[in-house]
Amino acid sequence: MNNNVVPCPFCGSVEVEVVTGTEDREGYPSQLTCSDCGANGPQTYCKDPHDKDYHKLLKQWNTRHLF
Ligand SMILES: [Zn+2]
Repeated sequence: MNNNVVPCPFCGSVEVEVVTGTEDREGYPSQLTCSDCGANGPQTYCKDPHDKDYHKLLKQWNTRHLF
């Protein structure tokens, strides 16, 4: 998906996708999810589900600690 993605710490995959949840008061909860094993990155809120802040999500995925 993106060459800048840090491999999934659980399975080593670089296939990640954006998953957006149901809107609540703060916006749309979105996170990157490993396509192979389902590990989730940190959740962040996006104001518009069609204008996902992918770079922010990617940065969180790449800099998170294991959880
Ligand atoms: Zn994985």
